[in-house]
Amino acid sequence: MTVGRFAPSPTGRMHLGNIFSALISWLSAKKGGGKWILRVEDLDPQRSRMEYARLMEDDLDWLGLDWDEGGVEGKGDNGPYLQSLRGDIYEEILDRIKGTGLTYPCRCTRADIQASQAPHESDGRVVYSGACRPAELGGSGETDTTRPVRATRLWVPDEEITFTDRLYGVQTVNLAEHCGDFVLRRADGAWAYQLAVVADDAMMGVTEVVRGSDLLLSSAQQIYLYRLLGLNPPAFAHVPLLCNAAGQRLSKRDQSLSMEELRKDYTPSHLVGLLAYCAGILPEPFPISARGLLPLFSWSAIRPVKELTIS
Ligand code: GLU
Repeated sequence: MTVGRFAPSPTGRMHLGNIFSALISWLSAKKGGGKWILRVEDLDPQRSRMEYARLMEDDLDWLGLDWDEGGVEGKGDNGPYLQSLRGDIYEEILDRIKGTGLTYPCRCTRADIQASQAPHESDGRVVYSGACRPAELGGSGETDTTRPVRATRLWVPDEEITFTDRLYGVQTVNLAEHCGDFVLRRADGAWAYQLAVVADDAMMGVTEVVRGSDLLLSSAQQIYLYRLLGLNPPAFAHVPLLCNAAGQRLSKRDQSLSMEELRKDYTPSHLVGLLAYCAGILPEPFPISARGLLPLFSWSAIRPVKELTIS
């Protein structure tokens, strides 16, 4: 049975792009009679608000995207479903990863890391230089151990990780080039998304991850963690990001395509029809319920473009 999930961060009202991912994820899980989990990714205490999580539930309800497990009330046996309540689970997973001997304390500040960036890395990606890597993991072993520890990092091999995305096909990522040794936990206690997402998807029995194409390459980091833990990764299916008419990716800061505005202008079936049309599932944007779309859904209808413009 397919176990899908939607894992929004409650840092603002959802926008059209978020519900696009939610819809495709729900359709894919439900089409084969599977279940769909709603997990609240409130790892960032500064930016996460419970009121946004409740609004997300209300928006999903309004769209007819029902979840079998999870949500703010946390129905189901694999909870808690709020990441902020899952620290003990992450602790255990981190201990297991530490058991491989591939983690080390990193003392670099944000400024140190920025300063060691190669000038061409202009897409915002941070590739860690390995400055704190110990000698036994191939580093210089020359860190000043009087400086405070800032994070626990995981060594990555200089080799290719290959996986097949359901939409974008075969992907090959060398983690040493893509991100370098990456953070699992900050010294202030904050958990890294990569560790939390793997712990959660694995413990919740998720078999299929559907999410925006901005996270396509980070799947390689997650596959690496699954390997170290001796666990099978789920299937990955990334979906195009939606852009506004000006070609900019939608973000929670854009008010015009937020659910608050969309719910004033559309009925649920009009909005589902529009998204299904954008996805390529419908030939015209006619009104249809999410459930009504189930027989029409197929992955082969969706074009593997990185971005879709919606006007
Ligand atoms: N919490 C992430 C977001 O809202 C999604 C992470 C995931 O689906 O793996 O963008």
